[in-house]
Amino acid sequence: MLTIKDLSKTYDNGVKALDNVNLEIPKGMFGLLGPNGAGKSSLMRTIATLQDADSGSIEFNGIDVLNDPQALRQRLGYLPQDFGVYPRISAYELLDHLAILKGLKNSAERKEAVEGLLAQTNLYQHRKNAVSGFSGGMRQRFGIAQALLGDPDLLIVDEPTAGLDPEERNRFHNLLVGLGEEKAIILSTHIVDDVSELCPNMAVLAAGKIVLQGNPIELTNNL
Ligand code: ADP
Ligand code: ADP
Repeated sequence: MLTIKDLSKTYDNGVKALDNVNLEIPKGMFGLLGPNGAGKSSLMRTIATLQDADSGSIEFNGIDVLNDPQALRQRLGYLPQDFGVYPRISAYELLDHLAILKGLKNSAERKEAVEGLLAQTNLYQHRKNAVSGFSGGMRQRFGIAQALLGDPDLLIVDEPTAGLDPEERNRFHNLLVGLGEEKAIILSTHIVDDVSELCPNMAVLAAGKIVLQGNPIELTNNL
């Protein structure tokens, strides 16, 4: 589904964040595991067309991502690390505004989409409450709701469970597993258990290089 070839990126300060990255990412949950500073966010931002690479290519379902970012953006949902927009307007109102920006103009369709996403992320009963008052887990689920506007085929989720308590983390995991039946989901994290519990396929990134790639169970059996 997503094929990354020979992707490299060096920042202006000389840090080589991505060093000849090659990856095949199929449909379902894909775990990108690595310590802080490994280059995970750089890779996620590059796939999400938020920053350029120096060299290499990214292909998603026939889209040449680096040369046609607009086409990818129409198929993409993105939950950045530290998703930080927590305004005092209600969850419903905020999601409705984001739906307008996403191009959902018809108000009946928008209502259906917004209510459906709030239900899917278990936030419907909180729809009239301000997002600024949400718990960490609710905010992350709201982040997923906004990322799902427009029904993307590719969902990128960057370090989503940091700071969640075990129950909220479980809820969040269950939400992702359900979505993985329909979409390609890239879960970027430094938490090994997030990947081993959720992802049939994974890669390990360290100092900008892919050092392991495969199925978490096979990989741990071979250690
Ligand atoms: P690019 O090479 O993609 O243009 P830059 O090096 O110009 O990237 O940096 C982009 C932004 O990221 C700048 O605003 C910069 O201040 C910020 N930045 C710089 N160093 C870091 C870092 N170590 N981690 C995260 N962000 C950084
Ligand atoms: P991770 O998400 O795995 O923590 P990052 O992609 O954020 O890794 O960072 C990889 C390396 O690139 C780190 O050394 C970081 O300091 C550096 N870096 C990240 N963003 C920038 C930037 N915009 N400008 C300069 N250096 C950056």
